[in-house]
Amino acid sequence: MIDASFATIFGREAAVTAAAPGRVNLIGEHTDYNGGLVLPLALPLEVRVAIAPRPDATVRAWSANVPEDEARAELTLGAERRTGGWIDYVQAVTSTLAGDGHVMSGFDLAIASDVPLGSGLASSAALLVAVLRGLRSAFMLALTDREIATAAHRAETEFVGAPVGVMDQLVASLGREGTALLIDTRTLDVADVPMPSGVELAVIDSGLRHQHATGDYRVRRDECMRAAARLAVPYLCALGRRDLPRLATLPAPLSGRARHVVTEHLRVAEAAEAMRAGDVETLGRLWLASHASERDDFEVSLPAIDTLVDLAAADAAVLGARLTGGGFGGSVILLCRAGEAAEAAIRVQRAYQTKTGHAGRVLLPGETERQRR
Ligand code: ADP
Ligand code: MG
Repeated sequence: MIDASFATIFGREAAVTAAAPGRVNLIGEHTDYNGGLVLPLALPLEVRVAIAPRPDATVRAWSANVPEDEARAELTLGAERRTGGWIDYVQAVTSTLAGDGHVMSGFDLAIASDVPLGSGLASSAALLVAVLRGLRSAFMLALTDREIATAAHRAETEFVGAPVGVMDQLVASLGREGTALLIDTRTLDVADVPMPSGVELAVIDSGLRHQHATGDYRVRRDECMRAAARLAVPYLCALGRRDLPRLATLPAPLSGRARHVVTEHLRVAEAAEAMRAGDVETLGRLWLASHASERDDFEVSLPAIDTLVDLAAADAAVLGARLTGGGFGGSVILLCRAGEAAEAAIRVQRAYQTKTGHAGRVLLPGETERQRR
């Protein structure tokens, strides 16, 4: 598919293709920049790229997933400049690789993705990792999967200027479908946590959009750093349950911010344990507690998203639900009884539409999973 698009756009054959998945974070929100645990899962949705090297230093790129008048973009290796457009993600990769001493020529690049852009499923990290994988094989670059993750992270934070943690890039590079990745964001140690049997995931896009690179996300990060400084710890997740009374002595909103981060970190460990034990009821309860904490303590939810989570939680097929991703919009994940996710997601999405007037969209189970049955 992506080879065919490449041939149509550039009038020649692609030399290599590569892909990387989007993700949902099962639990562990805003713990990633506080030295805590996160538990993302690679999705059966992915960004695919096709690449062919060029003899010059020009990069011509095309994406199937942006408005047609923005679909084509160009850059020159060595002259990368941030533009504010999607091409920045490609420039971020080439300039980061050059900075690390990797040698390559220009190339033509086609991109097609079924990870929705800006819905909290980490399309940006999937794009960066897919491009890095494609360039690794096109130019035989010496890069491990872990180095791809950290290069993608530096590309996104330093070049694109999005102050994101390393979770998205790690799971895009190291994640496998059906197995969650428990990541200690302080040490970058990872462990596999298989999805328990008897449950199936659904994802509903609220239709409300976040803006990572700006405003509120930065404010939250800053509040966490201030809370940690006041508590005289290097990062908030160094604190545990017995420190909770101390957090309450912080001024608002820092007390709530710190309480969310510390309790969320504990919930991730409990969730991983519940998944390993196959205790899906506990997992569902932890998701609901996580959402309440995002809503009340960290204040990254929105009233319509709270409605979406409440509607999901009231559905008989749903064991738990929560806002996933950075917040201020984005997607909600539903832990459903196996075999019931597709129907439950449609029921909940319709109820959400009726109640809030926002369309919402079922992202998972997607077309492919629905057809697979
Ligand atoms: P998320 O990662 O949650 O989807 P971000 O705001 O971090 O949201 O990243 C979305 C941005 O990534 C898009 O606005 C676009 O610039 C870029 N992007 C992601 N996927 C693609 C794609 N397939 N084609 C072009 N740009 C993409
Ligand atoms: Mg992103």
